[in-house]
Amino acid sequence: RAKQQGGNKIKFFSADMNEQALFKMELEGYLRKALQKNEFFLTYQPFINFYTGKIIGAESLIRWDHPKLGLVSPLEFIPLAEETGLILNIGNWVLQTACGQAKMWQEKGAIDFTISVNVSAVQFQGINFVKEVKEALEKSGLQPKYLKLELTESVMLQNVQYSIDVMKELQKLGVQISIDDFGTVYSSLSYLKDLPANNLKIDRSFIQNLHANTKDMAIVRAIIAMSKGLELKVIAEGIEQQVQWQLLKEMGCDFAQGYYISKPLSAKQFETFLATGSRTT
Ligand code: C2E
Ligand code: MG
Ligand code: MG
Ligand code: MG
Repeated sequence: RAKQQGGNKIKFFSADMNEQALFKMELEGYLRKALQKNEFFLTYQPFINFYTGKIIGAESLIRWDHPKLGLVSPLEFIPLAEETGLILNIGNWVLQTACGQAKMWQEKGAIDFTISVNVSAVQFQGINFVKEVKEALEKSGLQPKYLKLELTESVMLQNVQYSIDVMKELQKLGVQISIDDFGTVYSSLSYLKDLPANNLKIDRSFIQNLHANTKDMAIVRAIIAMSKGLELKVIAEGIEQQVQWQLLKEMGCDFAQGYYISKPLSAKQFETFLATGSRTT
């Protein structure tokens, strides 16, 4: 049937549609029980300030460890969770866990530590979303300014006016908003100027070949310049090499994220990183 192979990807041994449908049903069955069985955990990937080298926060990235399938990538199960509506509970769990963890690290001495949480379209468009954000903040005691919600453009484009209203409500709470994966698929400048956002994350596809591709260089330079004009802080995701780090720093990018700094870490590993790992070159 289906078996896990390297790279966290579930591969199908048969292209037969029935097999695929069956596997999807099986996966859905597992997914339904995953929360109560405690199979999810969060990893944390640090954000660094290019110029001080300080850790300013982390992005929380969900992982699913299933006893039979092993680690299933969020790229596989988030779409299924969205399709089935399970994302509402999963997303809420992520919010609460991430806020609680950030508060704990702050109490252990991580000053001004900000936590980023990815929000799916289905979750964001759900009627309880703002209420759940409020609850996660209240329960954890985390100050709203230390929570960043990462929304992709596709999240917002589902229903532009409604999305802008929700984003404004969130900003009234004091929460920050990041536009994730900027530059992929939809990017429309006509609405970008009206979006209540604080941060923009340049998609890793522009960063990957930055040093070798003058077109990527031109685009990234333009995104950074535009962000300054729009008063958005710019984060570069997917920095893997020193040469990319150096170029982005010279271009005036604000914050760095990527394997060059650190891969996503378990909570325990992240604590060690917090204690030792800032990077200035
Ligand atoms: P994303 O929000 O754009 O997250 C960045 C992805 O790039 C993460 O993959 C991260 O591990 C990976 N990454 C970071 N630095 C590098 C690098 O230097 N090189 C390369 N090649 N990759 C890098 P991950 O953890 O597999 O997550 C994939 C996507 O799944 C995320 O993309 C996000 O859209 C979604 N996701 C993850 N966690 C959650 C969650 O809690 N809720 C929701 N709704 N979606 C999530
Ligand atoms: Mg993200
Ligand atoms: Mg991203
Ligand atoms: Mg992405």
